[in-house]
Amino acid sequence: MSIDQIETAGSDRSLSTTIIAEKGGAVHRPAVEPGRLFINGVWRTGKGNGRREVLDPSTGQAVTTVVDGNGDDVDAAVQAARAAFDEGPWARMPGRERARILLRVADLIRKHGEELALLESVDVGKPIIFSRSIDVSTVVQQYEFFASQAQNLEGATRTIPIPSMAYTRPEPIGVVGAITPFNFPLILSNSKIAPALAAGNTIVHKPAEDTPLSALRMAELFAEAGIPDGVVNVVTGGAQVGEALVRHPLVDKIAFTGSTGVGRTVAGLAGQFLKPVTVELGGKAPYLIFDGADVEAAVGATISGFVFNTGQFCMGITRLLVARPLLDTVIEAVAAGAAQVPVGDPFLESTVVGPMGGKRHLAKVEEYVRIAREEPGARIVTGGQRLDLGGAYYAPTVVTGLSNDSRLVQEEIFGPVLTVQPFDTEDEAIALANSTPYGLAAGLHTGDVSQAHRVAARLQAGIVWVNSWALLDPAIPFGGHKQSGYGREYGPEALAEYTQVKSVVIPLG
Ligand code: NAD
Repeated sequence: MSIDQIETAGSDRSLSTTIIAEKGGAVHRPAVEPGRLFINGVWRTGKGNGRREVLDPSTGQAVTTVVDGNGDDVDAAVQAARAAFDEGPWARMPGRERARILLRVADLIRKHGEELALLESVDVGKPIIFSRSIDVSTVVQQYEFFASQAQNLEGATRTIPIPSMAYTRPEPIGVVGAITPFNFPLILSNSKIAPALAAGNTIVHKPAEDTPLSALRMAELFAEAGIPDGVVNVVTGGAQVGEALVRHPLVDKIAFTGSTGVGRTVAGLAGQFLKPVTVELGGKAPYLIFDGADVEAAVGATISGFVFNTGQFCMGITRLLVARPLLDTVIEAVAAGAAQVPVGDPFLESTVVGPMGGKRHLAKVEEYVRIAREEPGARIVTGGQRLDLGGAYYAPTVVTGLSNDSRLVQEEIFGPVLTVQPFDTEDEAIALANSTPYGLAAGLHTGDVSQAHRVAARLQAGIVWVNSWALLDPAIPFGGHKQSGYGREYGPEALAEYTQVKSVVIPLG
């Protein structure tokens, strides 16, 4: 092997990653050193002895280990975040100064983009092409966008019927506990951390137990950018760490992304302590193809929308609803296209679909496909099996002929499985689209602009895409309707989730 470059990022304070790039551009899995906890600007070993293996889902092999934190670790991190909020400069700094530091974070992410992309791919099994072009580049945009919001964080003056000066101040809430899921570690962690920082809060972050690597590397970049010690702390571990964070009396707000079941537990617990909470939860996105739509474009959007991130995407297309005259053509084209999507090693630049996040995710998909096989009238048009590629691989799968109350249609599968159902009228399409407990995202393809507006207004979802899929940007808010949660990420709306309004009234008479 002819080595082009060996780069060792980090220092003795950090999670150290070794990147080996071979001449000719082949991409290698990074070597990662065991992770520690990041508390008050220092890497610590953890108060208990617990460690967890981090597995590469494409091989099932351990990549490294991280601390399996406990309540004492959470307490140490929260105390650090509390002191940084109450006594440190971050919350009191002018928004313009925080913005300058957040822009430095964006620059550092750009500079270390390849390393972060490799970490994300080895941790989650994401194809490297997407870790670079979507995950890393989105996080850069998040910091750029929320830097602009930090500069514009302003209150308002109000007029009342007596001579007075009355105004509002948007103030940070305090210590934010951020709990995040396994499927988009970089994007979803920083969709919380960036606005929380912009508003002047301090943070204790608990990344998903399966995919904690990029969060640990980001902690070091925050320090390098000049974010003061204690402002961002990372405690790795499982549910015990998350729960300790929700229960901790010095945590002022919880920002959670994950499954609806765990979200319910977290929101319930936060409610007991009267803690504000945002919960970004599961999805079951419908995609409606109306007669008169550009069928080729709709089929393309459907295929990428249901296989992207191996279907482990809360906004992924899961239920395809098709105008009956187009049904056979669409099923045939979607199945043929899905069967040709390159599935394989995430470190090959030709790979579009990698493995699932691990064995438990694979087992869940297999169980749903088994249920489909037992349902009268159901037909697996393509896929329906594991792929023997060494890791947690599953073939993109299309299922037709299911009843609307089938568990495959109603429940979140979170894998590369698409169900297809016909409709005869616009009303029926909308009724089917709105018939699950979820309401995170929805989409439609139509050639009729009036229909686009009419249907978008009636779909129960936090975001609706017309003649497109998954166009996301930090400027555009998203969040759940119904059991997909409450609160908004992105947009100026996200800043509102991390600020509280104080009114100041001074009579002038
Ligand atoms: P999960 O609910 O199993 O875990 C999410 C996080 O919660 C993890 O960090 C986990 O350790 C922690 N946790 C588990 N039990 C806890 C408890 N009792 N108290 C506190 N924390 C606890 O979710 P997952 O499997 O990692 O992620 C997939 C789910 O996330 C899917 O349902 C998906 O739809 C959802 N998701 C939603 C969005 C969104 O924006 N709405 C985005 C991505 C993923």
